Amino acid sequence: MTQNVPAYHLKKIQHYYGRSKVLDIKDLKIPKGSITGLVGPNGSGKSTLLKLLGFALEPTQGEIFYNGKKEYCFSPSIRSRVTLLTQTPYLLKRSVFENIIYGLKIRNDKKELKNRVKKALLGVGLEYDDFAHRKWHELSGGEAQRVAMAARLILKPEVLLLDEPIASVDTKSARQIRKASINAQKRWGTTLVIASHDLQWLYSVSDTQLSIFNGQIFTSGIENVIPGPFEKASEKIWKKGTGNGQSFFLKAPEKKSDNAVIKKKHISICVEKKPELSTKIPTGNSPTENILSGHVVSMLLEKKSSHIMTIVSVGDLSFTVRLVPDQVSSFGLHPGKEIYLMFSSDHINWI
Ligand code: ADP
Repeated sequence: MTQNVPAYHLKKIQHYYGRSKVLDIKDLKIPKGSITGLVGPNGSGKSTLLKLLGFALEPTQGEIFYNGKKEYCFSPSIRSRVTLLTQTPYLLKRSVFENIIYGLKIRNDKKELKNRVKKALLGVGLEYDDFAHRKWHELSGGEAQRVAMAARLILKPEVLLLDEPIASVDTKSARQIRKASINAQKRWGTTLVIASHDLQWLYSVSDTQLSIFNGQIFTSGIENVIPGPFEKASEKIWKKGTGNGQSFFLKAPEKKSDNAVIKKKHISICVEKKPELSTKIPTGNSPTENILSGHVVSMLLEKKSSHIMTIVSVGDLSFTVRLVPDQVSSFGLHPGKEIYLMFSSDHINWI
């Protein structure tokens, strides 16, 4: 029965800073033991969402259920079960050892501390004898981040929330932090929610990717958000320039909306030769009425499905299409390759 209760269920969450609404999530469930990747541009609301999930911030409106029970900000019962690691580690002005046992001390858990600290440090690739006695200021940025991670892992958390944890650390530390987070999920069934610009990592580890834009979430994975403004081409059709002389048409929204979404599944590709583009304003329903020429900038393997997420740059915009490995080899795709994207003006969602 409890098997199906999600780790989190967010209901009608809105969060405001002052008068500006930065999150608006109608309904979101995060399954226990899952790995969720959060992707979105700076300022889209990822950190705010992670703070809400960490019960470190009270939402302005709405409810958060944790393991089926409504929970509140700073609830003591979940303080050490749910833990957040941010980009800049916060360490107490004490030794590494003291930092790592801090959470255990609060729980009055004093068993085999040395052994557990040793294991926790090893889990992030640091030797006890070399690091345990060091003061907080005798660490590089990457080492400090690894110590902060060890301080969380020693608690065997039910949830580990990672907010750009490897954005400002050296490559070795990044590798150790990535490894330690996956190990937590494997060993203890820890639920992970990760915000990172390292898409290669996110795609390779996460079960689900949530794309977040202007505080709204698309549960169906990474989608192509086309930010406004748009030009009015006719009463029912809007036009968007790509910044490199190309443009495309979109069916106008029915109510006021600032941004358009073109789902990956609605974009097809071709590589052979430039298809004919009609110069007329489209009427909708033809999958090739918009044709854009772009270049593949990166290709990422999606863990679950073995699909290849292919990111294509078109002027100022970037589009993601999801391909099967066979398509990648038959089209001979590689970063730098020119490719044509085709989609109908009709297959648009507005947000
Ligand atoms: P992200 O993590 O995706 O960069 P954030 O959640 O940090 O996004 O920010 C979302 C929006 O909320 C941004 O516009 C940001 O400027 C604003 N914001 C974040 N924290 C605060 C705060 N403490 N007070 C006021 N505005 C904030």
